Amino acid sequence: MRQLGRAVSLAALCSFLHAAAAIHVVRYSIQARLDTGQKAIDGHETLTWRNDSPDVVRELRFHLYLNAFQNEKSTFMRESGGQLRGDKIPKEGWGYIDVRKMQVAGGPDLAGAIRFIHPDDDNADDRTVASVALPQPVNPGQSITLDIDFLSKLPKVFARTGVHNDFYLAGQWFPKIGVYEKAGDRYAKQGGWNCHQFHANSEFYADYGEFDVAITVPSSFVVGATGVQQSRADDPQRHESTYRFTQQDVHDFAWTASPKFIRVERQFDPSREVSAAELAAVATLVGKSTAEVALKPVRMILLIQPEHREQIDRHFRSLINGLKWFGLWYGAYPYETITVVDPEFGAGGAGGMEYPTFITAGTAWRAAERESNPEEVIIHEFGHQYWYGMVGTNEFEESWLDEGFNTYSTGKIIDQVYGPVVPPIRFLTFPLAGLLGYPTYTQDAFNRILYLDYRKVDPVVRNAWSYYDSTSYGINSYMRPATLLRTMEFYLGAPVMARVMRTWFERYRFHHPTSLDFEKVVNEVSGKDMSWFFDQFVFGTNALDYRVDSVECDPEPVRRGLFLEDGRRVAVTDDDVRKIERDRSKKKEPVQYRIVVKLVREGEVVFPVEVKMTLDNGEVLQQQWDGRDRWVKYEFLKPSRMKRVEIDPQRKVLLDSSFLNNSWVADPAPLPFVKWFSDLLFWSQMVLP
Ligand SMILES: [Zn+2]
Repeated sequence: MRQLGRAVSLAALCSFLHAAAAIHVVRYSIQARLDTGQKAIDGHETLTWRNDSPDVVRELRFHLYLNAFQNEKSTFMRESGGQLRGDKIPKEGWGYIDVRKMQVAGGPDLAGAIRFIHPDDDNADDRTVASVALPQPVNPGQSITLDIDFLSKLPKVFARTGVHNDFYLAGQWFPKIGVYEKAGDRYAKQGGWNCHQFHANSEFYADYGEFDVAITVPSSFVVGATGVQQSRADDPQRHESTYRFTQQDVHDFAWTASPKFIRVERQFDPSREVSAAELAAVATLVGKSTAEVALKPVRMILLIQPEHREQIDRHFRSLINGLKWFGLWYGAYPYETITVVDPEFGAGGAGGMEYPTFITAGTAWRAAERESNPEEVIIHEFGHQYWYGMVGTNEFEESWLDEGFNTYSTGKIIDQVYGPVVPPIRFLTFPLAGLLGYPTYTQDAFNRILYLDYRKVDPVVRNAWSYYDSTSYGINSYMRPATLLRTMEFYLGAPVMARVMRTWFERYRFHHPTSLDFEKVVNEVSGKDMSWFFDQFVFGTNALDYRVDSVECDPEPVRRGLFLEDGRRVAVTDDDVRKIERDRSKKKEPVQYRIVVKLVREGEVVFPVEVKMTLDNGEVLQQQWDGRDRWVKYEFLKPSRMKRVEIDPQRKVLLDSSFLNNSWVADPAPLPFVKWFSDLLFWSQMVLP
């Protein structure tokens, strides 16, 4: 049965890959020769681009991203101040790309006609986007083929690319055509190029197609790249080897070379890694048959530094966890290979990055078990194969659809596979946090504590270079989206959210969807109108905060006066009252308490919350507050005092910007320190339902 199931799903995969191939917009054939003396790549590129729009296209646009590193005047360098992710550009480490020839078959050389444009800012010194006016337009449905000669001088390793000693990481290294969006694509009102400059706070956007790349390096080098290695040809005279890699259904191509790499290859075998019970559980969760959620084998290639040899198993185990859980939850990884690169010591700027079927990790000489590396970085970068690689969102304009979705999905895998983490607080080499008995934290708590730095200045969705600062870009791209997706999951329920995410992946792989497309999927799959959620948390800047304002709990006074009982007037006199009060204090007479609980919505954001009130006698009063008014009052007459009031007792609304004011307890903690510590414990040990 399982064999049959796998065959059916393979057939399904092949047919969707075939369908995707039919919509390829670009085809690259590149011959690249690494010049280790000049630390440069001599390249020849044959690019075929199809005009998939109803427009007559008279101009092409290209990304020439290595020019971000040519001097301090580029937009990237101005915005970043020459540093990225804590990494500084090395001295005299400049890089650039020169286009030496660009020719339409049989036509004139257009290299001289290249104009550098700056569609995003007024920086005339930026040379990361090139515009080329065509002598003959490309008509709707027609293709154009260009022969391009280029020279890429690699920078010293910085911002995901470059050279360090004899370690090379070639990313953003060839002239890559922009995306021509026709009216109706994404947000386009009319047809035009979407081809942004290289910014400090941004990643990438390009069209799907096929790559056929031949890389020539000294024979002593080990090479890894996007796609499948088809051949290796040695030239003993020149001591050179040429490797040919091909891959379809990808929108970028990166490669690496170094004589130091140890190359290890292993097979991801679903029949060994996924149990029948796990397959059945996931099928039930996402509402599919086990055949539909079955995975396929993948060749895993690891290029690791010799001093990290003893971490080989850990690298593969992390990758297997990524292949397994991303595959089961969202859809099988469809490519034949995945390559993981461990950059050389000192080349950390090339680490922790994703390219199609090719990721870079990074680890320490002796990374202790259960620290963040290499496990978390490999799972995270692998996750980008789904949210970036296959669901090809525009990272310039909607970075959360990549980094936020990835932080959300990666967090779930890490929590599930590895459990809560010990904070990486160290003194010398001692894991201080562990010694001090610090509590462990979940990925939700980790993301939330960083989200709390959110300053209400930016919505989640905006151009990556337009956020208030790089911290705001980071929080709105990674932690705030992860926290909002988790809150959405708690609100809709895990099975609905699992189907939302799977539908999103299945519907939009090899396409360029937007935040509005995601909103549509959420509404459709959940059967609810969730626009209020998107308006507030994705497109809005307001914060969410609920607070217990006051709790009053007083014995109900003994009534006095004349009361009608069974048709007779009964008098309760002052003497009667005194007697009843005496009896009450002797506990002969039960006391009723008048309880008034007032809750306040501090933030502008409206979100329905659960309220749990517990009395001394153990009785629990549950309320559901829609949160629409700025406050709500609950009144009760009960034979017991109020002991505890909690808004959102299960901590489902992770977006609440303060949990500390969510509860009221009758007996305050004896010391502020104890309260502080218990709060710390509370957020750090939020157990998920
Ligand atoms: Zn990432």
